[in-house]
Amino acid sequence: MTDVPTDTDALAATVAAITGARTVALACHVNPDGDALGSMLALMHVLRAAGRDVVASFPTPFRVAPHYRDLPGLDLLVEPADFPTAPDVMVTFDCGSAARLGDLEAAARGARELVVIDHHVSNERFGTVNLVVPTAAASGVVVQMVVDALALPLDRDAAVCLYTALVCDTGRFQYECTTPAVFDLARRLTEFDVPVPALSRALFEEHRFAYLKLLGEALDRAVLDAERRFVWTAVTRDMLDRHGVGVDEVEGLIDILRRTSEAEVTCVCKVDDDGSVRVSLRSLGTVDVSAIAVANGGGGHRFAAGFTSDLGVEATVARVVAAL
Ligand code: MN
Repeated sequence: MTDVPTDTDALAATVAAITGARTVALACHVNPDGDALGSMLALMHVLRAAGRDVVASFPTPFRVAPHYRDLPGLDLLVEPADFPTAPDVMVTFDCGSAARLGDLEAAARGARELVVIDHHVSNERFGTVNLVVPTAAASGVVVQMVVDALALPLDRDAAVCLYTALVCDTGRFQYECTTPAVFDLARRLTEFDVPVPALSRALFEEHRFAYLKLLGEALDRAVLDAERRFVWTAVTRDMLDRHGVGVDEVEGLIDILRRTSEAEVTCVCKVDDDGSVRVSLRSLGTVDVSAIAVANGGGGHRFAAGFTSDLGVEATVARVVAAL
């Protein structure tokens, strides 16, 4: 992992905080993706195996998207309501701001020590210790650094979770962030009998037929602005209800739409249960979509970012177009 520079003071402070904790409380961001869940669960497995007192959760809505359902350790998570309100030491994963902790933000504010483990360049460094490594391909890469610095061994469950984090945030080793260090870590993890084909199918390929029908409709209504090199579509409540598909299930839709050769920037709007619009953005690199996301209260990376809007789909897309 030699080509990923890190903050050695923050790494030492992270190790000291975790080592000295009575209980370690772990939390990742709302609507967790593979990196958020995989990073948190991996450290949970490593600390549990070392006999440490660990509690882990993620914010309401307390449900995981279908493609993550087989991740080892999900059954050990506690409901957000059962998470300690004033943890001794709390660690957050893949979380660029305290607001991304949803109903666990209060616990973070009440923690004696708050360790922020992340790789988002837009991270607001809201912890007492901020281990933020923007050059890391995934938060899972940073977790592996912490595990090594703690001198604790990985086990198979932790390896499966870290592999999930890595494969999700690198787009199966295809995005810009796919460095030699990423392959080094993947090689190390796959020595733990990680079920690569089964994970690939569960994480990226397998969908219910109802989702594929919804995908067809979403592609049919997609709009290409060739002049701005911008393509977008929306998944409305009506579409989700008619097809019987949950909003968490359509996370991968943007990876289909971003194949548009005429587009530099891709946008997918998903209308959540409460009527708010979840906006996902992808760029080929010329446009920094994290800047658009941050300007709208979200965050992310140059190539992949997102935010939540209360303006409705049309006005939200107009804001994105205006920022291009
Ligand atoms: Mn991530």
